Amino acid sequence: MKWLSETAAIAKLTSIRERFRERLAGFEARAKSCATCTSPGACCTDAHFVNVWISRLEAASILRSISELEPVLKNDVMERTFRTVTEYGLDEIDDEGPGTYSCPLFEPGRGCLVHHTAKPLPCIAHACYEQREDLPPEYLLTETEREVDSLNRRVYRDDAIPKPLPLALTERIR
Ligand code: SF4
Ligand code: SF4
Repeated sequence: MKWLSETAAIAKLTSIRERFRERLAGFEARAKSCATCTSPGACCTDAHFVNVWISRLEAASILRSISELEPVLKNDVMERTFRTVTEYGLDEIDDEGPGTYSCPLFEPGRGCLVHHTAKPLPCIAHACYEQREDLPPEYLLTETEREVDSLNRRVYRDDAIPKPLPLALTERIR
């Protein structure tokens, strides 16, 4: 296996993410438009629903993206992220736990702060479909997650253990 630096792997992750977006584009056309949503962000802030778990490499990519935000916003987001871990007990769950939370990366009036730069794969895949048959097949996400797992192994030399997004971020900066 050819090892990679974290920086090189994040560049590859960006390409994987873009390819995934392209593969989903045809399906998204059949989903409800976020531009006309009457509850924008409900999909990101519903603490009973959001259960995005990410790998170590994705956490690194998100943290780089956050580091480029305006200083005040950057501090707010990181504070919110630490608070989310405590509030939802994300550091106490086991692998089978629900691990749901209100996502700290959602900024009212602005939306997902990493939408263009480091959006996690399940978030890219999510859209509000009225008909079940319009949903993209699950294998598209599974296949792409496998590619990201492989990148994680090439950087950190062990299996990527996904964690709830806020926990994965705070563990990287403790
Ligand atoms: S994914 Fe659904 S709930 Fe979220 S903003 Fe788009 S339409 Fe609204
Ligand atoms: S990462 Fe972005 S899209 Fe995903 S739940 Fe958080 S705010 Fe929403």
